Amino acid sequence: MTDEVAKDLTERWRQKLSTTRMNELQSRSSSPAPRGFASQTPHNAPPPSYSSLRNIPLVPMPPQDHKQLRFKNLMHSLSNMPCRWENPGLLDEALKAIPLEQIYNEAEEESQIFKAEAESLGTGKKPAWGYQDCVVRALLRWFKRSFFTWVNNPPCSQCYSPTIAYGMAAPLPDERARSATQVELYKCSVEECGCYERFPRYNDAFVLLQTRKGRCGEWANCFSMLCRAVGSRVRWVWNSEDHVWTEVYSVHRKRWIHVDSCEEAWDRPRLYTEGWGKKIAYCVAFSADGATDVTRRYVRNILKYGLERTRVPEAVLHYIIAEIRATRRANMSKQDKFRLQGEDMREERELRYNYITAIAQEICKIDPEDILRPGSGVGNRRADPDAQKAAEGRQSGEAEWIRRRGEGGRGTPGQNQNPPDLPPR
Ligand SMILES: [Zn+2]
Repeated sequence: MTDEVAKDLTERWRQKLSTTRMNELQSRSSSPAPRGFASQTPHNAPPPSYSSLRNIPLVPMPPQDHKQLRFKNLMHSLSNMPCRWENPGLLDEALKAIPLEQIYNEAEEESQIFKAEAESLGTGKKPAWGYQDCVVRALLRWFKRSFFTWVNNPPCSQCYSPTIAYGMAAPLPDERARSATQVELYKCSVEECGCYERFPRYNDAFVLLQTRKGRCGEWANCFSMLCRAVGSRVRWVWNSEDHVWTEVYSVHRKRWIHVDSCEEAWDRPRLYTEGWGKKIAYCVAFSADGATDVTRRYVRNILKYGLERTRVPEAVLHYIIAEIRATRRANMSKQDKFRLQGEDMREERELRYNYITAIAQEICKIDPEDILRPGSGVGNRRADPDAQKAAEGRQSGEAEWIRRRGEGGRGTPGQNQNPPDLPPR
């Protein structure tokens, strides 16, 4: 019986080989058409377009037309933001607005806990976070819980009733002097009152220390400046959809850490995609010493959460970023330039690693059942543990905060606030 089966299999295998060989010979002799057209079996189907791999290093190319030039100008103007914080006198002044002693005490306590945790895990283990990381973590808690306020519609200052959006107004001289280029106008919802409320959108982080309110633009601006004031290297991350946040350099971890002051989020870069279900095209980080396309830190699963990158060809984006780096580093010493170059390369490796790990994870999640019986839906029953982790913050009693912010993820929250090509507000 076994012999017969073996014989049968051998014969079938021989036939299969023979057919394949014949096909190959025919296609070689008949025409130079690509082999994919000869047969549609999976292993010689036409190759995929690889459009998702456009992040690979390219030769930088200067902007070619009006649209690309406009994007370049946008990038350059956004890149100025972190430079506005580089004012030692104002940073010293800003420290007076912070309960420094409380923050340093909390940081000291937390860093001791991280140390003890590491020691309990065995010798040679490094604490999860260093002291300076803990300073920023304490600053983050204080900023969100006791300092800054989120504003959608400012309440009426006469009768404290809710207001209704009424349009934009020109800034008054003193508003303009304090860095507001736009003023939103709101009308009291109580007929008899009829008061108008002005909401000037201030751009100056030091002015925001006094007003202490706004939307994500004001939050990220003021918080990033304060991180700088406590001595951290800081980045301002612009997202092409509608959000901005902060990155702080961790000397302890030797990498840039995601920090979102609106969310009190520390090192949760997958929050926006896997947490909120947001789709993202670009995230670009700007600092006083350069710019970096950090999209791959925030969008791990490009197929699921990546939006088509249509602003400029990738080679042009490389050119613009190189240009901004060169401008920012023009007056630096050779050693500093070299050090930053090394840092850029390390980060590129980190981002590439993120990307490759995400692909590997996706492959591991494929259920053999799906391949054997496509469409059976068996594979869908597995929930992604990372996505669940990322979503946790959003589900644990933060519903009210999300509602107030009007930013529940899914789609583009607050899209009316920002005309395209303006910095997110
Ligand atoms: Zn009123």
